[in-house]
Amino acid sequence: MNKVLKKLLPEEVARFVKKIVLTFRKYYYMGDTYHCPVCGSHFRKLLTGGFDLEVIKEKEIIGAGLRSNTVCPYCQSTDRDRLIFLYLKNKVDIFNKKLKILHIAPEPSLYKFLKKRKNLLYQTGTKYSEGIYFHQNIDSVDLLQIPFKDEEFDMVICNHVLEHIIEDYKAMSEIFRVLKKGGIAILQVPISYKINSTYEDSSISSEAMREKHFGQFDHVRIYGKDYVTRLENAGFRVETYNAFEDADIDMKLSNFALNQKEKLFIGHKEK
Ligand SMILES: [Zn+2]
Repeated sequence: MNKVLKKLLPEEVARFVKKIVLTFRKYYYMGDTYHCPVCGSHFRKLLTGGFDLEVIKEKEIIGAGLRSNTVCPYCQSTDRDRLIFLYLKNKVDIFNKKLKILHIAPEPSLYKFLKKRKNLLYQTGTKYSEGIYFHQNIDSVDLLQIPFKDEEFDMVICNHVLEHIIEDYKAMSEIFRVLKKGGIAILQVPISYKINSTYEDSSISSEAMREKHFGQFDHVRIYGKDYVTRLENAGFRVETYNAFEDADIDMKLSNFALNQKEKLFIGHKEK
């Protein structure tokens, strides 16, 4: 919808039309079955998200694949965005703590929530790609050369980005560099536990072949069980967060429509 509107209408008009569409969806899908913690809305169903591709099914890639009840009809959060939100809320105290955050390629739902928080110094950035919609006023940030000094941020959020970058080690090292000691980076990627070693092949470079081999036209690999080791090699101590094991969340009361198999990867820069 974003891309079509942007092509046809001026930016402000497109944003206005989008707001109307999202508000309509909020009421159309209203109900008691699901709760989106990011926007606080309740729904009878959520929208379907992801791609229906053979390689995703075969490798059982978590965080990809066609999933029903995945996208919030109002704020557009996905299952992984809601998982990040719950981590930020329950483990980081995002409502109160004073933090300087760098958010790479910000997801609209998390962006909207984070930019409003007065306790946060919030910096967004992304590297522009043709055909991909970006929020207005976002800065250009090349992850291979992050334009900030060492130990600038308390937190970096980099959700489903590394699988797009050929030199992912360099990107991980750059994120590590700009983190303060004691800081954390949320480094979520699509991952397959069916493969021990990350699958990548630089000779696979066309969009069609990347989609066939990696599950999306602009992905350059499928991370495997060695993902944690790759992060450790860049300097991080890696922790995982599973919302279903979080005693602060009563999953029986709140159906957040999370992916049961998905855990969050958090990289710590030790003090
Ligand atoms: Zn929502």
